[in-house]
Amino acid sequence: MNQNWRSAVGRHLLLLLVPCLLVGLVSGEYALPLLIGIGAYLAWHIKQLLRLHTWLRERRPDEAPPEGYGLWGEIFDNIYHLQRRDQRVRGRLQAVIDRVQESTAALRDAVIMLDRDGNLEWWNRAAETLLGLKTPQDSGQSITNLVRHPRFKEYFEQGEFRDALELPSPVNDHLHLQLQITRYGNSEHLMLVRDITRLHQLEQMRKDFVANVSHELRTPLTVIAGYLETLLDNVEDVNPRWLRALQQMQQQGARMQNLLNDLLLLAKLEATDYPSDNVPVSVDLLLLSIKNDAQALSAGRCHRISLEADPHLRLKGSETELRSAFSNLVFNAVKYTPDEGEIRIRWSGDENGAQFSVTDSGIGIETRHLSRLTERFYRVDSSRASHTGGTGLGLAIVKHVLLRHRARLEIASVPGKGSTFTCHFPPQQVIRRG
Ligand code: ADP
Repeated sequence: MNQNWRSAVGRHLLLLLVPCLLVGLVSGEYALPLLIGIGAYLAWHIKQLLRLHTWLRERRPDEAPPEGYGLWGEIFDNIYHLQRRDQRVRGRLQAVIDRVQESTAALRDAVIMLDRDGNLEWWNRAAETLLGLKTPQDSGQSITNLVRHPRFKEYFEQGEFRDALELPSPVNDHLHLQLQITRYGNSEHLMLVRDITRLHQLEQMRKDFVANVSHELRTPLTVIAGYLETLLDNVEDVNPRWLRALQQMQQQGARMQNLLNDLLLLAKLEATDYPSDNVPVSVDLLLLSIKNDAQALSAGRCHRISLEADPHLRLKGSETELRSAFSNLVFNAVKYTPDEGEIRIRWSGDENGAQFSVTDSGIGIETRHLSRLTERFYRVDSSRASHTGGTGLGLAIVKHVLLRHRARLEIASVPGKGSTFTCHFPPQQVIRRG
């Protein structure tokens, strides 16, 4: 091919130059015929260029290139083949895209692609039924304008996306959704939404069942505890053989009552997202009262309990819930620290928010237990638990209260040396007094 167009160019030049030189020989004037010849050659090239330009601009798909001679013919053909190849590649890519889109469109889970600012780029059919997105009106809209739940806005703005988020569907209150966002490419977001209504209903049934059973057991237990108390108040009328049994029954009855109270509290904490009474709480005063209770609990065990609290830092939230969480941590420190041990309670703040911490010089916890401590009824050592009279629900309550106050729990412990439980509160929950 190369040879062809080279010889064609050579032939053209020869055909141009020979007549010009002949005319020059006859007339004795070489410059003018050469100029006319080169001008004609140039005009022919410009004409071919214009033909190429018109063909490229007005070409219909699959339209063959214009006929051309020599070098121009070669150029027309090459461009045509390049375009055909490009069309074939594009066709194959389109087929792959179509298949991916068809399969994601058929998914029962919603798939939504958002740009780096959270504006909608693409979504499948399930996104329309689960989130109510409308094609094509919603294209380019911000996702936080379409899913307006306050928890979603907070989740999206935080930008961490470590855990999935559960929400009711914005189009149907009966649908419960789980949303998970992943970043990809150039900080774009891929959002997957699953319908977990069935799972949510089962979870709700479990919660209701536990709450109802706890509630129903409360009355008979109160009656039994009442009679036991009356019997033990009149201890002189009781057959001495039954005295120990009655005392143990009273002890276990009190344990059951604590258990029911904790179960009911957990059920209440799970029922809503955030505390209903979101008021400023004076944590320093709250901790002073908890410290006094801890001293009473320690009684003859002579723990050295100290408190350092910043009086200028207050927390937004529910005082009852915070009291229950903080006292659980402080009372645990008393329960799991040997006599005369040291317990330090601290409440302080910095630019990352505020921290409440309890450090003890107690028995400590092995690292392998730490991640599971906040599970309900999880105990490091069950013999230890029955000895301390704990319910195994204390840290689960702490976790739930903290979740409701946008805080997190950090546990550090060295067996035999002691533990530190720290609650980290974000700046938006903290109020500083001047
Ligand atoms: P419990 O009612 O049994 O204390 P919690 O949920 O409060 O239940 O605590 C779970 C387990 O974590 C406890 O059984 C105990 O083994 C361990 N634990 C909690 N706090 C401490 C602590 N300060 N020192 C050592 N172990 C602790």
